[in-house]
Amino acid sequence: MLRKLENYHRPEKLDDALRLLDECGAGARILAGGTAVMAGKNNEIKTLIDIKNTGLDKVSKRKNGVEAGAAVTIAGLLESPEIKKYCGGLVYEAAYHIASTPLRNMITLGGNITQVFPWSDLPAALLACGAELTVAGPGGVRKLLYADAVKKHPTQMIAKNEIVTGVNFPELPGYVGKFTKFSKTSFDFALLDACVAVKIKNGMFEDARFAVSAAGTLPQLLNESAALLKGVKTTDSKAVSNAVQKAVSETVFTGDKRVSVEYKKQILPVLIERLIDAAIKQNEGADAK
Ligand SMILES: Cc1cc2nc3c(=O)[nH]c(=O)nc-3n(C[C@H](O)[C@H](O)[C@H](O)COP(=O)(O)OP(=O)(O)OC[C@H]3O[C@@H](n4cnc5c(N)ncnc54)[C@H](O)[C@@H]3O)c2cc1C
Repeated sequence: MLRKLENYHRPEKLDDALRLLDECGAGARILAGGTAVMAGKNNEIKTLIDIKNTGLDKVSKRKNGVEAGAAVTIAGLLESPEIKKYCGGLVYEAAYHIASTPLRNMITLGGNITQVFPWSDLPAALLACGAELTVAGPGGVRKLLYADAVKKHPTQMIAKNEIVTGVNFPELPGYVGKFTKFSKTSFDFALLDACVAVKIKNGMFEDARFAVSAAGTLPQLLNESAALLKGVKTTDSKAVSNAVQKAVSETVFTGDKRVSVEYKKQILPVLIERLIDAAIKQNEGADAK
């Protein structure tokens, strides 16, 4: 566990963190919440660059949505009124289901979505709402759609000398998002995570997005099945069921020692159907107000 660690830096400016990361080369790592860095063997790490003092811990409303700094803790996300109301509470719900209170006080948004484990809860929510990362490096700042960041593992899409500085949750007017985590206990890692974000107008789905985590090794956006809901009446149970079944065939599953692929295939349609129902009900409630 960090047996080769020689240096610890806690810069107060992002530019200093970027310079140190670049200068220190292959043995340098960003330290955010530390819950993965400290837990793994990580014998290749010689230098840790702690980004918690670099001002990346704010959540704010912007013209184009909600902007959250990468070093915001999960507890910080949960305290944000902007996150609470964003997309009907989609990101809030995913954050709420991460681990335990002490861990939510440590784990950061950036760490959770960069060092993605199969069970990581926030990635599916980011996919369902079309979130975009801001990534800073020696060459400047670039934007990276989260859906592109998880085409491979995000650590392969973000260079070793780059830092994710924040996440933009785009404006999604009229959308209702729902998240569910299926796990053995409320504290345990997810066996399956599912998210649904829908826009309903005049009793019809105008748009729909489905995303899952823990089904396979990486989070997945299920575009083909979600597209089957577009233009469908919310009361058309056959068409809804078609989209749900397609979500199962579209998902890439891997089993693990806790749960078989067959079991996940039986659970996923139940979760997605429940989320769609809940979104319809929440939308009806909003319409009635
Ligand atoms: C007992 C336990 C239970 C857990 N349960 C859950 C759970 O139920 N659901 C869940 O989603 N998570 C859970 N987690 C958390 C998850 O497994 C990771 O440990 C966590 O998401 C890592 O975030 P962090 O901020 O602690 O990152 P760190 O450990 O600080 O960093 C992890 C890696 O990401 C890199 N990194 C971090 N931030 C950035 C950035 N801004 N830019 C570029 N690279 C960066 C670091 O360099 C490092 O390589 C649990 C963790 C523990 C220990």
